[in-house]
Amino acid sequence: MSEAYDVVIIGAGHNGLVCAAYLLKAGYRVLLLEKREIPGGAATTEETLPETAPGFKFNRCAIDHEFIHLGPVVQELELEKFGLEYLFCEQVVFCPHPDGKYFYGHRSLDKTVAEIERFSPRDAKKYREFTEYWQKAIGAMIPMFNAPPKSIIDIAGNYDIAKIKDLFSVIGSPSKTLDFVRNMLTSAEDIMNEWFDEEFLKAPLARLASELGAPPSQKQLGIGAIMMAMRHDPGMARPKGGTGALVDALVKLVRSLGGVILTDQSVEKVLIDDGKAVGVRVRGGTEYRATEGVISNIDARRLFLQMLDAGEIAAVDSDLRERLDRRIVNNNETILKIDLALSEPLKFVNHEHRDEYLIGSVLIADSVHQVEQAHHKPAIGEIPDDDPSMYLVVPTMRDPSMAPEGCHTAWIEFSRLTRFADWKALD
Ligand SMILES: Cc1cc2nc3c(=O)[nH]c(=O)nc-3n(C[C@H](O)[C@H](O)[C@H](O)COP(=O)(O)OP(=O)(O)OC[C@H]3O[C@@H](n4cnc5c(N)ncnc54)[C@H](O)[C@@H]3O)c2cc1C
Repeated sequence: MSEAYDVVIIGAGHNGLVCAAYLLKAGYRVLLLEKREIPGGAATTEETLPETAPGFKFNRCAIDHEFIHLGPVVQELELEKFGLEYLFCEQVVFCPHPDGKYFYGHRSLDKTVAEIERFSPRDAKKYREFTEYWQKAIGAMIPMFNAPPKSIIDIAGNYDIAKIKDLFSVIGSPSKTLDFVRNMLTSAEDIMNEWFDEEFLKAPLARLASELGAPPSQKQLGIGAIMMAMRHDPGMARPKGGTGALVDALVKLVRSLGGVILTDQSVEKVLIDDGKAVGVRVRGGTEYRATEGVISNIDARRLFLQMLDAGEIAAVDSDLRERLDRRIVNNNETILKIDLALSEPLKFVNHEHRDEYLIGSVLIADSVHQVEQAHHKPAIGEIPDDDPSMYLVVPTMRDPSMAPEGCHTAWIEFSRLTRFADWKALD
């Protein structure tokens, strides 16, 4: 039996670390237990090929940071004092089209509109309206995003004058409200068709929307249209040194506040006493006690179905186990990702190459149909390996510190859908 903590957190992903930092600032004693040998979860940067590619640092998962800039975490936790430096990208997307056109998105809306205008003045004008609409929608949604999920009062308190203006500009009249509701209920594909004519523009916007984890045709995911709007404001950035630099800053902060992070600790069981979580047991049998509670940085299914006995859950909520067990997860996406160590940068041989095209995300999205296939084919048991859509980043173009001098890395992501049965097998 180890010493007692107020709170034990299962998993030291970046969300677990942020949670720990706020609890420590509020005066709680916090222990984080991490299964891997390092903290960070899906937000690490690692020298994954030390023998074959020494000095090349790879982001194992997350690379382009946008959502974090919609909330106050980086500023409130003063992460720059702990070494975090965000490098914003002025060029955010390049998507070469086979017909010679291309979509070149800049952080600046004006520059992006000017690029689209070269090929389609009509779509350029519509793109400005589209971006302004979705930015207002984001402004209207941020207060909900940054409030505890249960508290209407807290949500209301998060609306300042600017956010109230945004809210009224998207739902300020019956027709605007109906439009907004319809946009929420429809698919990214329908939204792109409604606004634009040109495939060179629709396809990359559909690809970004599908990053939410569903094909462009998926109804009720029109909200994916915000994914490009966010790259204009608040912008897209990467921590200097890789995504892991965000985790490094959080780890330093947590430790400076007295938090304890133990790695190689795989939690197997949440300990329950009288209907309350009082600690955890890790592989090997060690138990850690928590006087106030246990917080999970892992998904609800694994927490409640694998770390708790059926009777323990039923005593608190008789339906919870069944609801979680039957919850539909068949559009949970799995991602196939490839990392490359390169002796020279990639080149667009069929377009007039400019290195700056490689600063943002490079999207291979020739058509909305190609993006659809990348997400949809695996759902019917096929692999979209014939000319697949992809999302590619050369992080070393913006941050050369991530590879030996003159060398580069490439991060390539392909999406595939996993059916529930596969998900269980993977587990
Ligand atoms: C390939 C890929 C690319 C991505 N790209 C982006 C991107 O560009 N931009 C972006 O914003 N997001 C991206 N994401 C999503 C982003 O990485 C995740 O949403 C985020 O990292 C999740 O953080 P988390 O702390 O909630 O969970 P996790 O990072 O999953 O942390 C959970 C932690 O719990 C630990 N754990 C699990 N089981 C146990 C156990 N039994 N005991 C103890 N510890 C345990 C895990 O090891 C892990 O460290 C990407 C994800 C993937 C997979």
